[in-house]
Amino acid sequence: MTSAASGSMQTLLVDPGGASSALLMAALKRYGLAVWRAGSVEEALAQAQRERLDLVITAWVLPDGDGIALARRLRPLLNEAAPIILISASVSPERLDEAFLAGITDVFTRDDLEHLDNFLRYFLASRTDTVIGARLLLVEDSPAQQQHLTAMLQRRGYEVDVASSVDAAREHMRQHDHELYLVDLVLLGMQSGIGLIRQLRRTAEDFVLRPVIVLTGYHDTARKNELYRLGVNDYVIKPPPDVELLARVYNLIYMRRLYQQLREREQLLQTMALTDPVTGIANRHTYDEAGPRYLERTRRDGKPMAVMVVDIDHFKRVNDRHGHAYGDEVLTMVAQLMAQSVRANDLVARYGGEEFVALLPGCGQPCALRVAEQLRHGVATRVSTPDGPVTVSIGIAVIEPAAAETLEHAFERADKALYQAKTAGRNCVKSANDEH
Ligand code: GH3
Ligand code: MG
Ligand code: MG
Ligand code: MG
Repeated sequence: MTSAASGSMQTLLVDPGGASSALLMAALKRYGLAVWRAGSVEEALAQAQRERLDLVITAWVLPDGDGIALARRLRPLLNEAAPIILISASVSPERLDEAFLAGITDVFTRDDLEHLDNFLRYFLASRTDTVIGARLLLVEDSPAQQQHLTAMLQRRGYEVDVASSVDAAREHMRQHDHELYLVDLVLLGMQSGIGLIRQLRRTAEDFVLRPVIVLTGYHDTARKNELYRLGVNDYVIKPPPDVELLARVYNLIYMRRLYQQLREREQLLQTMALTDPVTGIANRHTYDEAGPRYLERTRRDGKPMAVMVVDIDHFKRVNDRHGHAYGDEVLTMVAQLMAQSVRANDLVARYGGEEFVALLPGCGQPCALRVAEQLRHGVATRVSTPDGPVTVSIGIAVIEPAAAETLEHAFERADKALYQAKTAGRNCVKSANDEH
């Protein structure tokens, strides 16, 4: 009935039996809890006297009383950190009130075992030793508190840096990123913890990414309000009960990591939206969004900008003879060569099919011809299929800073030049500006 992860967690299920009780039992066992059974108030009380219980789950209706009456008598027998959960067919606000007054921690309805499931996962994560390791910064000048808190946090697998003054704390912050800050207000030296907290609250995200728990020696409502206004996440009076402090620490780190996960996912989505999945370079959307800004900036600098359109020659044949996947490889190689042949600040995008576009700010006619010719030569000599070398045709158009030309118009000119390169026999570069 027990498992290594949560084997020390002893649970008492007080339930006269029935179909839903089997479901409950299954949920508890899934988490590897050691489960004792009791069918009545009296049996439950007897069990609590025999065993140390970490969690009690009780039904509302019992043969010799009810779950609330049981909680009232059970509470003094249990460790104060042990939750008592009431499972009831339905929950009214009056019953909730009564239940909480009797010392019940939470109430779940029978048809809502998903919430119980969540509760159990969270309960176990916060109680067992398999907690998330994290690096914390403890800013505290009392050696006794330092010692006690550090030992407690380290037992939970946290890495703890300790500072007695604001200066020492700043030094630690320069060395490491911490996932949580425990800050005493009155510290050694000239500065109080408030200055440090202000430093930890520079951006809106700091509230989640740099959580702060204030440790204070005395209760003062005005100061507490002020601290919450400053953006402190939590506030505890010293010495906080170990279990309570650990739960608060865990909650804040858990939230921080959830937030980070969300942000990473968001960044991934954003990258996906801007990138062509086949070649890994920017997609058409990015070109349409960023292109006009490139032109504006270049114009402001009083410099010309080249638009270069590149199309693979007879690409349909590559696909037809070697398959679409092979075609994708060729596309990727051409895209990479193109990205390598321009400057870091230039924009290279897949415009569609086997056609690419590059924007080269600060690049006039001679420069554009040079870059295009280098790319043409690079592809012809470095990309090949079993049938022979792959080649590209390139059209360029240069936008002069004084001309009131739109990017769309310049693109059209470059595309026309590309068409000329195709009709001139492919594997060559044509410039739209040659016509003038
Ligand atoms: P041209 O020299 O005139 O440009 O001839 P072409 O065969 O390159 O031009 P066409 O426009 O006739 O054919 C383009 C081909 O590009 C057809 C299409 O199957 C292929 N293509 C478009 N997108 C992709 C892709 O994502 N992957 C692969 N493998 N092929 C693609
Ligand atoms: Mg074509
Ligand atoms: Mg083509
Ligand atoms: Mg094409």
